[in-house]
Amino acid sequence: ILRVEGLRKSFGSNEVLKGVDLRIEKGETVVLLGASGSGKSTLLRCLNFLEIPTGGRITFSGTILGASDSKGAVHYSEREMVATRKRIGMVFQQFNLFPHMTAMQNVVEAQVTVLGRTRADAEKRARTLLDKVGLAAKGDSYPARLSGGQQQRVAIARALAMDPELMLFDEATSALDPELVGEVLQTMRALAEEGMTMVVVTHELGFAYHVASRVIFLDQGRILEQGSPHAVLLQPKAARLRDFMAGHV
Ligand code: ATP
Ligand code: MG
Repeated sequence: ILRVEGLRKSFGSNEVLKGVDLRIEKGETVVLLGASGSGKSTLLRCLNFLEIPTGGRITFSGTILGASDSKGAVHYSEREMVATRKRIGMVFQQFNLFPHMTAMQNVVEAQVTVLGRTRADAEKRARTLLDKVGLAAKGDSYPARLSGGQQQRVAIARALAMDPELMLFDEATSALDPELVGEVLQTMRALAEEGMTMVVVTHELGFAYHVASRVIFLDQGRILEQGSPHAVLLQPKAARLRDFMAGHV
């Protein structure tokens, strides 16, 4: 469903992604690990064009994105970036719910404004999704009245409401109190088991071990190692990955 070749991203003279090659098949759950600053967030943000890559090629759902100019630089049109963003859902560490809207309105809003659904259709879909994330009873609650775990589950429902083909999670549980982490991981796990295609940045190695179809270790803007959870987490080959794992037990 997604193919990335030679992806590069620089901020000024700081090259953060140094040529990342990545293939993600439909239905896969890929967990992305790496030290702070290794470029995990930047990679996710490039996949849905919240950041514009400085080089490389992205193919999403069979469409090759970007065009190279005579000097080899890649340019992405605004139209293709907007179209791609609509098909990819993203969940952040900070839930970013609209504080002045109820949980229901948060899930409804973009369905109406971006997808052009009728409010009735959007509400029907929102009810199904709030139920799915275990919040059927919380539709009328404002974010301030919800726990962090509940807010994050609303954020997941909101992303799912756009019927994305791919879901990106950037440390979705890192801002939560420890006792609330499990409910959000459980929601993510259920989604993975239903066959959603997901790329997940997380420090939750239990989730990586039990849910990921593949684990990728990013180091200084490059993929250093990837493979099955068992291979990457329990039999790491690269010294830097062994050090990383040692810091996470
Ligand atoms: P963490 O685990 O701390 O979230 P990360 O692996 O997600 O780290 P990134 O956020 O992708 O790392 O950052 C990688 C590098 O890119 C860092 O050196 C960071 O300072 C730099 N960087 C990220 N975003 C920007 C930006 N908008 N402008 C300038 N530099 C940036
Ligand atoms: Mg990050």
